[in-house]
Amino acid sequence: MRILVVEDEQKAGDYLRKGLTESGFVVDWAQTGPDGLHMAQSESYDLIVLDVMLPKMNGWQIVQELRKNQETPVLFLTARDEVEDRVRGLELGADDYLVKPFAFAELVVRIRTLLRRGPIREAERLDVADMQIDVLKRRVTRSGHRIDLTAKEFALLHLLAKRKGEVLSRSLIASQVWDMNFDSDTNVVDVAVRRLRAKIDDPYASKLIHTIRGMGYVLEERQ
Ligand code: CA
Repeated sequence: MRILVVEDEQKAGDYLRKGLTESGFVVDWAQTGPDGLHMAQSESYDLIVLDVMLPKMNGWQIVQELRKNQETPVLFLTARDEVEDRVRGLELGADDYLVKPFAFAELVVRIRTLLRRGPIREAERLDVADMQIDVLKRRVTRSGHRIDLTAKEFALLHLLAKRKGEVLSRSLIASQVWDMNFDSDTNVVDVAVRRLRAKIDDPYASKLIHTIRGMGYVLEERQ
């Protein structure tokens, strides 16, 4: 498995290259945005680890460019601690992200997960039963009725819908939507799910969000 690392900081790049090589990957390292884009377009990689903050051309610009003609999984590394930034990265076509500083073991887990999934492009539209989610316009409808969601509600629904049929733990949801760590009070997740349900499920006969006791939540159509 070949991985391209695009990272301008010497120390971080060395660390990534060394760690990933030791984890069994073949690693190329680009130190500028334009180099990274060029390598991604001229070589064949199974995955790209992309720092967002790069000189000359940032990670977003690179992923936007790449998504015009390829679907290689992209994992963002971001130092920015803003949900909006991450949503933007995902909207532009990145597949996952990690916030710096991160545990190396977690990076490897995320990489292996993405590689198992194979190249899938972030869908611009997600359909679950009679619900449609227009990811780019952030518009949600059920049975043709428009549903207004807050930014957080949308992020939560988007996460559940992207991983339709997969049980997501409260801590995973908390980390992805609110950037809270595992020790935080995940009650906020339950409250948000309740609000989301009030909008997308309560008015409709068939419920899409299901609680899995002791595990978390799953979004799926059930007969
Ligand atoms: Ca950087």
